[in-house]
Amino acid sequence: MSFELPKLSYSYDALEPHIDARTMEIHHSKHHAGYTTKLNAAIEGTSYVGQSIETILAGELSPGLRNNGGGYYNHCLFWSIISPNGGGRPSGNLADAINSTFGSFEEFKSVFSSAAATQFGSGWAWLCAKNGKLSVCSTPNQDNPLMKSGCGNMPILGIDVWEHAYYLKYQNRRPDYIEAFFNIVDWNEVSRRYREA
Ligand code: MN
Repeated sequence: MSFELPKLSYSYDALEPHIDARTMEIHHSKHHAGYTTKLNAAIEGTSYVGQSIETILAGELSPGLRNNGGGYYNHCLFWSIISPNGGGRPSGNLADAINSTFGSFEEFKSVFSSAAATQFGSGWAWLCAKNGKLSVCSTPNQDNPLMKSGCGNMPILGIDVWEHAYYLKYQNRRPDYIEAFFNIVDWNEVSRRYREA
């Protein structure tokens, strides 16, 4: 049993103009496909075969597993929480939790965007949950909150701030990409992940 590159539920051009089709195609069919292939190569013939990716990431990680297991997991999450029908803001329990934790949706957006903008070099910013409590963090490279190096909470929203995620359209303007990202966040999926966490 090996990990498979997930099919997207939308076309590469569906997130235009916020994320351009060429970036989506390369990001999914080259970068994510590469992490998937290298993850499978890293676990081949080991006791990791058959384990969930979450279990693997929570354990002791070789550099290959850390980079490619993280890359596999992070991109699976990323594709699932963006949508051509996204944008707006959350409702229900997640909206209540955001308001009680951060004060308002605007304040949450500011904290999350700042974490994404100030992550030095390549990495990710996350909204995490544990026992209903929310927190924001960022991680370098393909690390994520589930790893021993992370905060230990469950990521429910993440933004990829590697240059490969935005450079073709935004070049050095990472804050513009972060602002555009909020137009495609699928809050229904983030809420579902919040309930699960
Ligand atoms: Mn990426």
